[in-house]
Amino acid sequence: METLSISSRLNKTVREQYMKLPQGESCMVTYIWIDGTGTELRSKTKTLDREPKDIEDIPIWNFDGSSTDQAKDSNSDMNIVPVAMFRDPFTLDPNKLVLCEVYKYDNTPAETNHRVSCKLVMDELKEHCLWFGMEQEYTLFGADERPFGWPANGYPKPQGPYYCSVGANNAYGRDIMECHYKACLYAGIKIYGTNAEVMPSQWEFQVGTCEGIEIGDHLWVSRYLLHRVCEDFGVVASLDPKPLKEWNGAGCHTNVSTKQMREEGGLHHINLAIDKLKKKHSDHIRVYDPAGGDDNKRRLTGRHETSSIHTFSSAVADRGCSIRIPRQVGEEGKGYFEDRRPASNCDPYMVIKAIACTCLLDSDK
Ligand code: ADP
Ligand code: MN
Ligand code: MN
Ligand code: MN
Ligand code: MN
Repeated sequence: METLSISSRLNKTVREQYMKLPQGESCMVTYIWIDGTGTELRSKTKTLDREPKDIEDIPIWNFDGSSTDQAKDSNSDMNIVPVAMFRDPFTLDPNKLVLCEVYKYDNTPAETNHRVSCKLVMDELKEHCLWFGMEQEYTLFGADERPFGWPANGYPKPQGPYYCSVGANNAYGRDIMECHYKACLYAGIKIYGTNAEVMPSQWEFQVGTCEGIEIGDHLWVSRYLLHRVCEDFGVVASLDPKPLKEWNGAGCHTNVSTKQMREEGGLHHINLAIDKLKKKHSDHIRVYDPAGGDDNKRRLTGRHETSSIHTFSSAVADRGCSIRIPRQVGEEGKGYFEDRRPASNCDPYMVIKAIACTCLLDSDK
């Protein structure tokens, strides 16, 4: 598909010339929001007279919800309310990226605005000091709509050498990963690390460790940065949890701890949380992908380092479980646990809300 790489082939030296132009006091602010699919991001940009110092300096704006699957033509204005501000790594300082919540004409949250209810839960549980870290896996696709770098007819050699690999024969598309990493650091995303994955042209980066709602904000904006970086290279980052049947899928492992879990004797509290998660397995599966569990059906097969979607399991250091307690946590008797079930295309707000409610609220909220 030619169109896929067409923007990436525009003259970037010419772009540089314009990017160097002074812009006076004015500031470009790019508003980012989640559209009606609950998985895709949209953005548009406006000029502010001066650089905003914090989120309060950025006005509420609006967009045409009938073009994003979020409203009818006849009543299409939707409000976007800034909630988190980052530096713009593409047009550079003083320009900003702002993640927004979406509200309908009557000021109720849009259907895919799951941040509002998540934030209520996080605020209620503030004293637990909930920490999260999410491992975002993704697969690069080339202009030919095959995984990036794969032969047009046929397959690369079987999985084995690719995970954390070096060498042109095994690491497909490192430039994307590195440019995204730098973009995240510049923007102010709490990016924790990155690695090449088991399937060739599949990669992972981790966001965290963040307290409460911040993990969702940072993960969504890190996804936005990933898609923008990929534009420049003429490739597409797919968050589909199972792009190819016989190859490793893509997840969004969610690491969790409370203050009690991190303190002496914390393993006891981790085990209490796991007991509660076990009882709510199917409820969690329903919110761990945007298709109510259908996406994860393809991924959580019990093979390719996953547990079966139908059963709940947990163990120390076992990557075939629903919940894994990292070996070091088992040895030290405190720390955090990893929920391996969330799919790569999950909404982090829904995931952390479900975990927090199940483990700490004993309610369904
Ligand atoms: P894995 O071994 O599963 O591949 P990674 O190294 O990819 O793990 O990611 C580890 C994740 O765990 C990071 O996102 C990090 O922020 C998170 N993490 C580390 N310590 C804690 C903690 N105490 N509570 C919650 N998350 C944590
Ligand atoms: Mn217009
Ligand atoms: Mn990882
Ligand atoms: Mn991984
Ligand atoms: Mn993991």
